Amino acid sequence: MMTSEHKQRVAVYPGSFDPVTYGHLDIIRRSAKQFDHLIVAVLNNTSKNPLFTLEERKEILTEVTADLPNVSIDGFRDLLVRFMKSRNADVIIRGIRSVTDFEYELQMASTNHHLDNEIDTIFMMTNPKYSYLSSSIVKEIAKFQGSVHELVPPEVEQRLLAKYSTPPGE
Ligand code: ADP
Repeated sequence: MMTSEHKQRVAVYPGSFDPVTYGHLDIIRRSAKQFDHLIVAVLNNTSKNPLFTLEERKEILTEVTADLPNVSIDGFRDLLVRFMKSRNADVIIRGIRSVTDFEYELQMASTNHHLDNEIDTIFMMTNPKYSYLSSSIVKEIAKFQGSVHELVPPEVEQRLLAKYSTPPGE
């Protein structure tokens, strides 16, 4: 039974989600089962040049997670650990696809732990079905009018079609 002393376990899944893929969605669904509340935090990155605006990325995520009551969508531009404090979250969720992901992820997890030692990073292994899948691969395929039907939810497929309706070079 839940008492008033029960501390809500809040996790944050940060990323660019430009756009969200079935690989991300799989991590969202699986990690939402492990926590009271999962916040998908969309990074408002100024260094990368995103295809979708922060608002579009948040809107798409809201649509595709509508059936998951304990998942909410938020945006952040602050230091991740500071954003987490403001949301009472102490666990970061990251997906791992390959050994190459691992090196970078280990560095990020160690940095965040250094910045705030109350924060832990939990890694989820990719669903092997999606181990090759990334947002950049999806954009590359869509740009050349290839089918992304099995890689992203219909909401994303439609928006990609709209963005790339003019063949490249025209
Ligand atoms: P970043 O811009 O930091 O790479 P992304 O938005 O691409 O962030 O991804 C956010 C998180 O989702 C990262 O932890 C990444 O490893 C994970 N991820 C991306 N694609 C997949 C996938 N196909 N399977 C599992 N995890 C994934």
